[in-house]
Formats: sequence, C-alpha cells, structure tokens
Amino acid sequence: MLLSDFPNLHILQLPLRNTFRGIDTREVAVFQGTAGWSEFSPFIEYDENESLRWLRAAIEAAQTPWPAMYRDKVAINATLPAVDPRQVAGILSRFKGCTTIKIKVSDFSQGAALVEATLDVIPEARIRLDVNGLWSYEEAISHITEYHLRFGNVFEYVEQPTAKVEDLKKLRAQSPVKIAADESIRKNLDGDLSEIKNFADVAILKWQPLGGFAAAHAIAEEVGLPVVISSALDTGIGISHGLALAGSFPHLDMACGLGTTSLFEEDICGEQFQIDNGYLKIDRADPLDLEKFAAPDDRVQWWHNRLMKVSELL
Ligand SMILES: [Mg+2]
Repeated sequence: MLLSDFPNLHILQLPLRNTFRGIDTREVAVFQGTAGWSEFSPFIEYDENESLRWLRAAIEAAQTPWPAMYRDKVAINATLPAVDPRQVAGILSRFKGCTTIKIKVSDFSQGAALVEATLDVIPEARIRLDVNGLWSYEEAISHITEYHLRFGNVFEYVEQPTAKVEDLKKLRAQSPVKIAADESIRKNLDGDLSEIKNFADVAILKWQPLGGFAAAHAIAEEVGLPVVISSALDTGIGISHGLALAGSFPHLDMACGLGTTSLFEEDICGEQFQIDNGYLKIDRADPLDLEKFAAPDDRVQWWHNRLMKVSELL
C-alpha cells in the first residue's frame, strides 16, 4: 500500500488529563475511507507484527459498512486510572450516570484506596478491578479474598488478575469474584481460544487490537463467553467503531469500556462521545478541527514509516 491509500491521513497528538498506561499524550493516525473515518493507533511500543491486526481493523472500518445493529445506544462503565484517591470524585464526574466503575489496580492498598474513594462517591457502584496480569497467583488469591472481605459483594469481576493460564485456572476455582480475560485473549490469538472459558467468566473484546468487526465476532464465537467491549484509548473515531461493535452483538448485558474519551483533555470529536446518563449513542464519528491536534513533523514521519512497514505485512 501507499500513503495515498489512506485518504485524508492525519497524525494527531491528544493530551491526557492523567497519566494512563504510563503515557501523557496519545498519538494516533486517522484517515477517511469510503465508509467513513477510521483510526490506526497501536501504542508506540508495539512492533509491526503486533500492529498488523490494528491496521486490518482500521482498513475494514474505512472501507466496509458497519455490521447490523441490535441497539442504538450502549451502557458505559467509568474508567479510573491509577490516580491519587483525592482525584476520584472529579474523574467520576466526567462519566455522567455511570454506576459500573473499572479501576486500574497495581498493589493492594493503592486499589483499596480507590475502591473506597469510589464507594464514597457512588455507594451503589458495581466495581471491576483491572490488574493487567500484574499479580502472581499467591498475590491474586490473597488480594481478591481480602477485597471481598473488606468491601463485600460490590465487585462485578477482576480483569486479568494474573498473566498465566495455569494460575488463572487455580484462581478461578477459589476466587469469590468472577474473572474476566483481556490479555489472555489479545496476546493469545493464535492459540486455542475455546480454552478461555475454563479460567474466565467474561471476555473483554476490543475493536482495533482484535482486528476489526469480523475478526472480533469470530473470536467471540470461539471463546463462547459473555462479552464486554472496551477501548484501547481510542479517539472518538475509534470509539465510534467500538460502539458499533458493541451494537452488533445480539446479547450484551454488561456495561462497556468505551467512555474513555473523557480521559483526554479534549477529544477530536468534541463532546460527541461524552457519556449521557450512563450511555453513549452509536453513531459515526464527526471529527472537528483536526489541525488543532496535529503532531510535529518528526512524529508524522515516524507514523508514515510505521504505516508503510505494517502494511507490507498485509
Ligand atoms: Mg484490561
């Protein structure tokens, strides 16, 4: 492919309100195909192979109409980065009407402080802990049991408490809280996905990392678990496709992690994907002034090179 195969290509930088995944600024490429705007935004540290599915998703969404929809709006969860507990009320106030809260957890007391601060603001909150596979089996069983004892039945699930499959299997047999698989799916796409229901209760699916609509549906089918659609810190353009993916599943019982444009100081679609009453409407993205977010020349060059290198693998 050539750069000219990505019409209206813009390389953008969006400042984040709080550090998330260790970054303060999200860099993305957006472009416009025959079906609408699309986004290519693997995180900077991802190599060409890991970025390939992201590119497939981006091209499919630019060129192919959305799948059939089963709803026109999607219930959304709030996403709480690993912040100072004093910032919790302010961050949650941007997720209007959301009562399901996903909290990024590293160590036990940091997580406990955020759960406590969340329950202070929203006493009826359903809480998800996202550990990103950081805990050992021993830490996971001790922390989850302790959280459950301390806060009671407020937890909807723990997302990826440990990285290893054997640990997750042992954990699930003993854990008082359900387990959701995220990295176990995303980093194991060539493996046997039907195994995942042996150690998880919920599957986290993401539009771009999984390779787009058709790929995500094929993966969901193979995994055979209830799904939650989540974002990869996309701009409003990627979020619009995440919402469409959520809309395209006949059964969707849990809130989705697509309210993340609130984590940007400002989104490229303005207020279009700001949550209203706990929901986001499924709609095509309508970016506003893209020039305002333009990345500096050296980063534009870096992304152009990246696009060309990844597209050689298609
Ligand atoms: Mg996760």
